[in-house]
Amino acid sequence: MHEFSIITELFKIMEETAHAHNLVKVESVIIHAGALRQIHKAALLAAWQEITQSTIAENSTLELTVLPARIRCLNCRKESGVEDICFVCGFCSSGEVEVIQGNELILHTIRGENSHGD
Ligand SMILES: [Zn+2]
Repeated sequence: MHEFSIITELFKIMEETAHAHNLVKVESVIIHAGALRQIHKAALLAAWQEITQSTIAENSTLELTVLPARIRCLNCRKESGVEDICFVCGFCSSGEVEVIQGNELILHTIRGENSHGD
């Protein structure tokens, strides 16, 4: 279950960020993940619930935004989206492409309360 290792990593980053901003409670977290990561959302949410128990992020909401995969053609240099794991240029049908989006895993937003109460 790779969602759990993803969550473990993200949780570490979340905790560090929360400390850096003096957060005493985390209410919501938004994650941006590339489509090529093939994250199972329900498994991710379950892992989040489990790992945040008895932490400052207990009962926080986790939102997952999936970034569609995009490629750049090495032949015609145009960029296009891809629907599945079939990397072919949408303009000239060349198979010589590079992936420019789809592998991301970003902790995008953390919302919470800081120790000043605002
Ligand atoms: Zn092309």
